[in-house]
Amino acid sequence: MSARTAGRKGRPWRRLRDLVLAASGGICALCGLPGANSVDHIVPLSKGGAPMAPSNLRAAHSTCNSKRGNRMQLRTVKTSRDWYGRE
Ligand SMILES: [Zn+2]
Repeated sequence: MSARTAGRKGRPWRRLRDLVLAASGGICALCGLPGANSVDHIVPLSKGGAPMAPSNLRAAHSTCNSKRGNRMQLRTVKTSRDWYGRE
């Protein structure tokens, strides 16, 4: 039971993050500029993305990361059912 929550932000996570940053050369996957200082989950955890899978991680600036969060909210509105339900 505790295995799922353990280590989310612990040492394994930091190691994984360093690996992802090194593999990308520090290039932010969202804006394409160097200096990425965090990693972004491609499939958000809220959508069932794997928190510790390297294939679900990419380097990003923490600022780009939060911008992307805003954009995804807009997208949710646009693809909401109301747009299609209007005949
Ligand atoms: Zn960026």
